[in-house]
Amino acid sequence: MSEPMRCYRHPNRETRLSCATCGRPICTECMRQTDVGIKCPDDVKLPRSARVGAMRTSQIAKTALAGLAVAVVGYFVVLVIFQIGFGRLILSGLAGYGAGTLIHRAGGRNGGPIAMTTSGVSTAIPFLPFLVPQILAGGFPFFIFLPAAIAVGVAVYFSR
Ligand SMILES: [Zn+2]
Ligand SMILES: [Zn+2]
Repeated sequence: MSEPMRCYRHPNRETRLSCATCGRPICTECMRQTDVGIKCPDDVKLPRSARVGAMRTSQIAKTALAGLAVAVVGYFVVLVIFQIGFGRLILSGLAGYGAGTLIHRAGGRNGGPIAMTTSGVSTAIPFLPFLVPQILAGGFPFFIFLPAAIAVGVAVYFSR
């Protein structure tokens, strides 16, 4: 037999039930039956819209890892894209799609502001080594800026 848990709202009550959404233990008095299982009162109260984009810590960690991977791998992807020299915008869009989808999946397909911000930032980072020196030199490298904007836009769109 596993150790009985204690209701998070009534620490003196033992229970074997837990919320389907947040996983916290709840007693029979606190539990609410829903069509997707037993839930705690907090999660029943939340409207659906408020739960969209809510991530668990593990999902946030995975999102950050995916973002890091995108930033690192992205540098080489961007390098290749600029060396190919043609179809830059399409390739950047595809790269953005790959980055956005990866980060979206890493976050348990929840989307939301964390996934979108991670996508945007980690897709923008690989372009910086190409972009920043030119800006510092006083130029506005439109031919780098445009693919970067497309990649970031697409990545954010697909991780929303
Ligand atoms: Zn709950
Ligand atoms: Zn309770």
